[in-house]
Amino acid sequence: MICRKCGGPVSADAAGMTKKMVNRAETSFFCLPCLAEEFKCPVSLLLEKIEHFRAQGCTLFEPKAPEKGEN
Ligand SMILES: [Zn+2]
Repeated sequence: MICRKCGGPVSADAAGMTKKMVNRAETSFFCLPCLAEEFKCPVSLLLEKIEHFRAQGCTLFEPKAPEKGEN
C-alpha cells in the first residue's frame, strides 16, 4: 500500500487507522506521519490508539506486536 499523500509505504496498522479515523470503506490510505498531520495529533498518539484498538480485539488491526517506528 502507498500513502495517498506522500507516496510512502503504508503499514497494515496505518491502513487500519485510516479506516478507523477516516472511513471504514476507505480504499486509499495514509501512512502514520501523514495521518497524524491530517488529524493534528502526534504519531505517538496514533500508535497508542492502535495498541488500544488491538487490545480490544478490533479486526482492523492484526493481532501481533507492531514494530514501533516502522514508518
Ligand atoms: Zn504519507
